[in-house]
Amino acid sequence: MASTHDLRVERLFSVKDYVCVITGGGTGIGLMAAQALAANGAKVYITGRRMEALKNAAETHSKGIEGQIIPIGPCDVTKKDDIAKLYDEIASKEKHINLLICAAGISGTKAEPEAEKATDLKAKLWNEETFEVWNETYNTDVTAVYFTTVAFLPLLQAGTEKHGHLAASVIVISSMSGIMRHAQGHFSYNAAKGATVHLSKLMSAEFQKARIRVNSIAPGYFPSEMTAKSSGPDQKSELPDEKVQEKGHVPAQRGGHDEEMAQAVLFLTKNSYVNGEILVVDGGVLNVVSGR
Ligand code: NDP
Repeated sequence: MASTHDLRVERLFSVKDYVCVITGGGTGIGLMAAQALAANGAKVYITGRRMEALKNAAETHSKGIEGQIIPIGPCDVTKKDDIAKLYDEIASKEKHINLLICAAGISGTKAEPEAEKATDLKAKLWNEETFEVWNETYNTDVTAVYFTTVAFLPLLQAGTEKHGHLAASVIVISSMSGIMRHAQGHFSYNAAKGATVHLSKLMSAEFQKARIRVNSIAPGYFPSEMTAKSSGPDQKSELPDEKVQEKGHVPAQRGGHDEEMAQAVLFLTKNSYVNGEILVVDGGVLNVVSGR
């Protein structure tokens, strides 16, 4: 039984001495997660394809905090050799990891299915979409999540052995887009994210016997290079409230804040009794756009 003292926030959510790896950790949601974990004491390796962005993010956001953000890579998560190299490099430095976050992702091309006349609808969706982009999106948002998680299983299991039953976990960043029945102008992304959601559930059920938890965060609109199209010198992005309001389906009337992503990440990281959960953090969008 816990004493009242044991239930203080800093006890419940401390990640001191945790070792974490985040793909796509140099910008957007991956960087928010890295900051949240490092602020609470963790050593966080961030990776991606652009070393400059990773170095800049680590340098800018590591000052005066208890933990560390360490750039590592480059790693293209759609390449098995790159993932294997990343694993070996981390395994040469660490005996275990406590958390893997798969945040690397791309959004593919847009083709709005607005026309009501079938010939116009066909022309738009046929001409502006390609097999190549669908495959690239699926590869990055689904297949790469699978191979990255599989690669890190041994270091994760070592984390569980160090910190207790089901302590080590994976957080897959999926999306509300994979749950809703609205293509948002990108069938390929939303279909891929649907698969990301299901892959997270499958991995959770299958890797339970290896004593590794897998959960997913399905975000709504958060500031990132994907949603804002750029990031500043600190690798952070701005998403003005008006841009989110223009969408007309966001009850919160704004994008998500760094703090709100941080709370979701720390909850799934520390609560060992949660396994196979798809945690939607979307300002209420799925209350008004049909899904599930
Ligand atoms: P960003 O574009 O800011 O972040 C994506 C990151 O992934 C980048 O840092 C990028 O770095 C990295 N990345 C992309 N492709 C690869 C690759 N092949 N190998 C390694 N790294 C790669 O966008 P977000 O932060 O928004 O995206 C993070 C995740 O969150 C994605 O999975 C996205 O689908 C999801 N998401 C985002 C939402 C939002 O509103 N922001 C909403 C719902 C889901 P680099 O280019 O250097 O490789």
